[in-house]
Amino acid sequence: MRFFDKTIGIKTNKSIEILNITSQIFQSVQESKISEGITLVYSPHTTTALIINENEPGLVKDMEGAIKCLVPWNKSYAHNVIDHNAPSHVVGAFLGNSLNLIVSKGTLELGTWQSVFLVELDGPRSRKVRIRIIGK
Ligand code: ZN
Repeated sequence: MRFFDKTIGIKTNKSIEILNITSQIFQSVQESKISEGITLVYSPHTTTALIINENEPGLVKDMEGAIKCLVPWNKSYAHNVIDHNAPSHVVGAFLGNSLNLIVSKGTLELGTWQSVFLVELDGPRSRKVRIRIIGK
């Protein structure tokens, strides 16, 4: 059993933004030389999320729009006395901040229409995504 670690840096451009990071995950699997195992993709931030879905530009735009409807963004939140981003934390908690992906035959086992996205919920900022690949 071996493991491989990598941290990727991502600059986000908007307050709410869905960024395709699939190629960086595939590249990490190639660099790891692990052919059978698990890839953990993890965001160490409290106002981001990680999701898997289809990389169709209209759908990505729809998802960004839907995020704005998941919670009221202009309501009074207790956390807003700290840094005015309570809805970003709430949506991040709802969507989740890690993904487990299968590595098989030296590559990621994603569905035909599946891509991996970092969801920025309080940008623009510099973000990190941690990748750990465990296997043989
Ligand atoms: Zn906050």
